[in-house]
Formats: sequence, C-alpha cells, structure tokens
Amino acid sequence: MKLLRYRNVDAVKAGALLGDRIVDITRHMPEITSVTDIIEGGKSVLEEVARLVEKGATDVALDQVELLNPFSHTGKYLAIGLNYKAHVDESRTAAGKPPEYQYWFNKQTSCISGPYDPIDPGVTEQLDYEVELGLVIGKAAKGVAAADALDYVFGYFVANDVSARDWQSHAPSFTVGKSFDTFGPVGPWVVTVDEIPDPQSLDLKCWVNGELRQSSNTKKMIFPIKEQIEYLSTAMTLETGDILATGTPSGVGMAMEPTGLMKSGDVVKCEVERIGAIESKVL
Ligand code: MG
Repeated sequence: MKLLRYRNVDAVKAGALLGDRIVDITRHMPEITSVTDIIEGGKSVLEEVARLVEKGATDVALDQVELLNPFSHTGKYLAIGLNYKAHVDESRTAAGKPPEYQYWFNKQTSCISGPYDPIDPGVTEQLDYEVELGLVIGKAAKGVAAADALDYVFGYFVANDVSARDWQSHAPSFTVGKSFDTFGPVGPWVVTVDEIPDPQSLDLKCWVNGELRQSSNTKKMIFPIKEQIEYLSTAMTLETGDILATGTPSGVGMAMEPTGLMKSGDVVKCEVERIGAIESKVL
C-alpha cells in the first residue's frame, strides 16, 4: 500500500493511494489521521486499513489535495553519510577513503517537511541536495541481527537530505548543517514493505531544474539497510516511527566543477523507483 497524509480543504487526513485517487482512511477510522497513527496502531490497524483499500472505494482525486509530511510526529531522524563509494570518492572530507564505521548524524526532527514544501536556505550560501531512500521503523528494535533487521521496517519513502555545506563543515558532526528548518522533505507517501521485498535494488535519481544530477541504485550502498539497523540497534532502541535516511549517491552539487549548488527559484526533484518522487522549490 501507498499510505499518505493529506489536507483536503481544512481537514488533515490519512489516506491510501489507489491509482490517481485516494481512499479516505480517516472517514472510516476517525482516530487515524496520519501514517504514524497507522504504524503505531500495529497489526490490527494495518489489517483494517488493508481491508478498506481492498474494497476499492475512493473519495478524492490525488491532484485535488495537498500532500503533507506523512508523519504526525517523529522521535528520531537519523541519516548515514558517505554510504555510496562514488559519493565517498567525490567528497572532499572523505578524500576517497571509505569509512571504517557507519557515519551517522541526526537531522533534527524539526527540519522535516512535506513532499512539495519549499526549501528555505536561511543563512547558508552553499545549499545542496541529496536524494536518498528513506525508511520508517515499524516496531521497536534493540539488538537486532542483520538477518532479522528488515522485519522491523514498516515502509519506505523518498527523502531529500538537504544540506548547508558551509554550516555542515563548521564542526566534525554534520548535524547543524543538515537540520535547518525545511531541510527534511519526505514522502510523497510511505510504501509498505510488502511492495518492496528487496530495498537494495532500487534506482534513485535527482534533478535540479530538469537537469539530471544524481543517478544510481541502492545496491551500491556500502552498508546495506539490514546492517544499518543492526549497527544502530546495537547502541540504541529504534522506536516505532523513527525514520532513517540511508545515504546518497554521487552527483551532489558541492562536488561538481563548477559547483552545482542550489539558489533561489531552483526546483529539485528526488525520485526512488517503486516509490515515487518529491519536489521542492528553493525560496
Ligand atoms: Mg545524506
């Protein structure tokens, strides 16, 4: 299923996409108004949603509503850096040396925004894009072995790990430069794991003003998703609803010569195979 959160007139609702139309889940289940509510509802709620979608009765056209950040609240947003070899090679800080350990940083959850929300550069003069496969945790994970790790994933989405390269380099941790307000567009919906049995075989692409900048495949990750969950859950509990961004391939603006950083008026589109695309305009 493709599960989403949307605004129709003044009401915020949870929905499921069927073709180019939406099943209004909230109309049938008033306590469910976001994808987070579905995840937190557990198996019984997900099964009820699935039964609703199977009936096939839709309520509104996709192009008649505003799609929102699917998540009503998020405990943690963790992102891994330097997780594609070609991106390591283009990165000035890594100097072509793949990391020995997984390089995790926080994107503060206040940066999370909707799939078509604008990006506000704020004070940065080095605004950059990073297309990534995102995932949301479906049940608390602690001490999970890689072999079992995908059982803890609820679904996948597209993330743009928007970055202020100047601020990112102020300190060894990327966190501040990755966490400006509006630097976390996610969506356009969450695709449940049953539709993506192999998350390590998905094409991902990014365009700026229609020009293709990034094009790769998730099979090229240095640390695949199952190892990411094993590593993180060795240290901390990944809670239901936490989200991860699983790394960006090469082609970021900072690495281009001359640089291809974003400026006011630019439109950045990020797409992942079998999920969809998100698109943001730079203010
Ligand atoms: Mg990134």
